[in-house]
Amino acid sequence: MTDRRPFVGGNWKMNTDLASAVELAEDIVAGIGGLTEQCEVAVFPPFPYLHSVGKTLEDHRIILGAQDVYHESNGAFTGEISVEMLLDLKVGVVLIGHSERRHVIGEPDELINLKALKAIEAGLDIILCLGENMTQREAGQTKQINLGQLEAGLSGIPTSQMSQVTIAYEPIWAIGTGLSATPADAEAAHGDIRGKLADLYDDSVANSVRIQYGGSVNANNAGDLFAQPNIDGGLIGGASLKADAFLDIVRDAARSG
Ligand code: PEP
Repeated sequence: MTDRRPFVGGNWKMNTDLASAVELAEDIVAGIGGLTEQCEVAVFPPFPYLHSVGKTLEDHRIILGAQDVYHESNGAFTGEISVEMLLDLKVGVVLIGHSERRHVIGEPDELINLKALKAIEAGLDIILCLGENMTQREAGQTKQINLGQLEAGLSGIPTSQMSQVTIAYEPIWAIGTGLSATPADAEAAHGDIRGKLADLYDDSVANSVRIQYGGSVNANNAGDLFAQPNIDGGLIGGASLKADAFLDIVRDAARSG
């Protein structure tokens, strides 16, 4: 038991079309009941559907999230989206440094940090994603990689703004693969991350920042993962595309709080 309110996010990635995105949001709204009292819930639709999904979520306590953002406000940045545009659409939280941005698109730590700083300065909450790949894990570098990404991503964010930050530990080898970290392995990584937050900031920040687990979370494994003391909910990819599965996971998180 902790004071931290569990937080579950549904990252829809580059999936759905307009009709199915709205339907998914409607089904989540219809099934969420009182769960948002015990658990914070956000969904991250593709950019073109933010407006319509946002309308569906209006007046419900489900937060509209964005999958990425750029660190400039406006100008000649073809294809990019600014924090101001997200705020216009009533986005409340943005993913920063998702592993697919890091490793498919090629975003380095420096760019991820610029995005984090810009989003925080604009008043958005962020979920800073980090995690090791299988080669790094097998080489015994998990802790070093995670803590390096954590420090680089948070560089320049003051203690006073850490209430806007959630961390998502997502081992890359577990994302979309069906291979989840064991609860004990995930808990060890979360403990290391929390320890580093205490070094970078203080005990109060370390004890209050939520650390989500992500990587093939589903309705069968969520309960055991979320029962770990340092795991404060999850960032869910594949299983967030079905309202029933997503709501089961939210229920598990609500029970763990
Ligand atoms: C993710 O996209 O952040 C994720 C964890 O995906 P999945 O749940 O499909 O592994």
